[in-house]
Amino acid sequence: MNSKLSIIIPLYNEEDNIEPLYEKLESVLGEIGHEYEIILINDGSEDDTKRRIDAVACRDTRVKVVHLRRNFGQTAAMMAGIDTAEGDILIPMDGDLQNDPADIPELLTKLAEGYDVCSGWRKDRKDNPLKRNFPSKVANWLISKISGVHLHDYGCSLKAYKKEIIKGVKLYGEMHRFIPIYACWQGAKVTEVGVRHHPRIHGQSKYGIERTIKVILDLMVVKFLDKYAHKPMYLFGGFGLVNIFVSFLFFMMMLGYKFFDNKSFIETPLPLAVVLFFLMGFMSIFMGLIAEILMRTYHESQNKPTYIIDRTCNCKDI
Ligand code: UDP
Ligand code: MG
Repeated sequence: MNSKLSIIIPLYNEEDNIEPLYEKLESVLGEIGHEYEIILINDGSEDDTKRRIDAVACRDTRVKVVHLRRNFGQTAAMMAGIDTAEGDILIPMDGDLQNDPADIPELLTKLAEGYDVCSGWRKDRKDNPLKRNFPSKVANWLISKISGVHLHDYGCSLKAYKKEIIKGVKLYGEMHRFIPIYACWQGAKVTEVGVRHHPRIHGQSKYGIERTIKVILDLMVVKFLDKYAHKPMYLFGGFGLVNIFVSFLFFMMMLGYKFFDNKSFIETPLPLAVVLFFLMGFMSIFMGLIAEILMRTYHESQNKPTYIIDRTCNCKDI
């Protein structure tokens, strides 16, 4: 197998990391012997990143450069890289030398063994323990529990994907970390290997603890999309019915108090609760109906099928 590799690197204000990263990559990739391209995405940097990556691309035609108009964020920049990539194996990584190109061969070995996705696991992570490592441990545990796809380190950018798995994936928010989960849900074989991690030497990290919150919110979206995207009414409608049922119970209690205990309606908060739960229930059901319309528009406007075919035999492309 001599598939072409696409190394995808989002860069935001990484001026001093570019040269050393390129040199390291070139030496590792040279040894592996695969054809390759390095895609550098300048995510609206305000420092000298732009000029320096252009300079590298001038020297080496295997380096492709994409400049984004402004800072769109790491996930969007990675998406731009994925859309540009022409390789058979896509390998995103960070551009700050925290990931080590020397781990690429190991990822490739796993793909050669038949896996579709191999994720890096920073076993000995060199970031701030309190602000980054601990919240990330909690988030990883949650993601593993909720998604049912068990990896140790979803946030590690260094991963390897077979092209078929990742092309066409649409990423939003902080979602690049969830690609292995989507992939696994769609039938891909996913594994992980331990990778090196180095402390950042040049430049600064762009993230703090707030990232964990975004990741957890994104996780809720991913879970919702997996379970209910095709049947939003089951979620909204289910919640709505429970609320209406609670409202009905309170209503009966209210009548009970009034006629058997002689308590006036306004002596208890029950009437308020009845109205509140009833309204919530009703609104949820309506939201569910709107979500159903949106879901149909989504699929039908773009001719998006609600299934994914593995392979066919003697069929025309559909
Ligand atoms: N990055 C980017 N756009 C952003 C923020 C970050 O392209 O808005 C890039 C950054 O240049 C680096 C990678 O994403 O190559 C990871 O960022 P960082 O090192 O700040 O994250 P950390 O390692 O602290 O999680
Ligand atoms: Mg970093």
